[in-house]
Amino acid sequence: MQTDLFIAGRAVAAASGQRFATFDPATEEPIAEVARGGAADVDAAVRAAHAAFHGEWRQVTPAARGRLLLRLAELVAAHKEELAALETADVGKPLKEAKGDVDGVVSTLIYNAGAADKMEGATIPLGPSVVDFTLLEPLGVTAHIVPWNYPLGMAARSLGPALAAGCTAVLKPAEQTPLSALRFAGLALEAGLPPGVLNVVTGYGEEAGAPLVRHPLVRGVTFTGSVPTGRAIMAMAAERTIPVVLELGGKNAVLVFADADLDRLVADVMEGAFENAGQICSSASKLLVEASVADELVERLRARAAKITVGPGKDDPDLGPVVSDEQHERVLGFVTEAKGSARLVHGGARPADLPRGWFVAPTILDRVPPEARIAREEVFGPVVTVTRFTAEDEATAIANGTGYGLVAGVYTRDISRALRLAQTLEAGSVWINGWFLGGQQAPTGGIKDSGIGRERGLPGVRNYLQVKNVGIRL
Ligand code: ADP
Repeated sequence: MQTDLFIAGRAVAAASGQRFATFDPATEEPIAEVARGGAADVDAAVRAAHAAFHGEWRQVTPAARGRLLLRLAELVAAHKEELAALETADVGKPLKEAKGDVDGVVSTLIYNAGAADKMEGATIPLGPSVVDFTLLEPLGVTAHIVPWNYPLGMAARSLGPALAAGCTAVLKPAEQTPLSALRFAGLALEAGLPPGVLNVVTGYGEEAGAPLVRHPLVRGVTFTGSVPTGRAIMAMAAERTIPVVLELGGKNAVLVFADADLDRLVADVMEGAFENAGQICSSASKLLVEASVADELVERLRARAAKITVGPGKDDPDLGPVVSDEQHERVLGFVTEAKGSARLVHGGARPADLPRGWFVAPTILDRVPPEARIAREEVFGPVVTVTRFTAEDEATAIANGTGYGLVAGVYTRDISRALRLAQTLEAGSVWINGWFLGGQQAPTGGIKDSGIGRERGLPGVRNYLQVKNVGIRL
């Protein structure tokens, strides 16, 4: 399979004529030759987005933009099997998860479609001789740089609100996982979005992502990915005085108290730590467990993890491979290092029956010291760590003791404790007695190194609108 860039509604080869290979994580075999976009292609894409913003797109009313996004949602839903198969091929995830991702994209588009004509300005009371009001105006051309873990989900998370707000967009998918974004852009055109409103430049971060952020016609950047790349993007955006929305991962502590509903917790950890092979910013991978229930909990986690099926995503196991050789080495490196100071309860290696493909068995480590690297850095693999505590203060200190601040979890039946911790835990989201709470409507994002800004919900749409104040002397 060979793919092109998607610029001004057309598939075009990279100006350099170059392509690069992407690989199937389950087989390690090449699956596509993808256009290797560079600065010239970024320039063409941004100019197309700029022309669309100042041309046809500006004439479309907010309500009509909403209807176009609804039509796109319908087309995405109608192509669920195809999009899910692309996502599974690129990322390795089980098909049922990929289908769930596509459902999430549909919900995101519907939510933002509904918001398109409901973003209202304000009137400001300044007395009898002045009328003052605000207009919410779209930023213009926006850049969207997304990671490989939820290629379509992360793209839709920022494209949905950007398009609803009236911006145009250039999307740079991750180099490992470009296929679903290209198909999505084709569906957007089919839905009736004018050519140039959504453009896709595939390629590497330095070659395609950096010129996109630096392009003089880009008016805002949304990025999801690693902390170092987020900082580099923020520095580039600072040179141009444009706003950034950054979501940079997490190391999410889940505080489990002795009075917690352990049945619910175990079920949530299976999903929260092993979905997408643990390659999730908001994974439930770092358990802080009150010592009196730790032995029981670890045994229950082990028993459940032992039942997890591992295999190629297309066969729909519980757990697929991780995305790349590099990621495979990294995850196993974390585990090998951690075994020096913690107890390996389950997994910890490639499953013996899967000699090829970037598979990692579901892994549980107990008695992990809070200062261990695996307890402080994002692993992005199917690995759960258990650290024991005896007092609430101690657990809070451990939870808040990393640079990250994306999500924190609390499992307890004590409502006062839960609400106290909701205030003291340093995270953009606190989830109590449940995981992956929120959906399209609730804002998410990080504090500290986990990022800047909030996505989803109405704050997500506001990222793409700027306030203009109009004052009139009567
Ligand atoms: P990962 O998510 O693999 O840890 P990154 O955060 O570097 O790594 O990648 C997330 C996205 O950022 C990808 O689309 C990648 O191509 C892009 N990217 C990487 N480096 C840069 C850069 N210097 N400028 C812009 N985009 C980049």
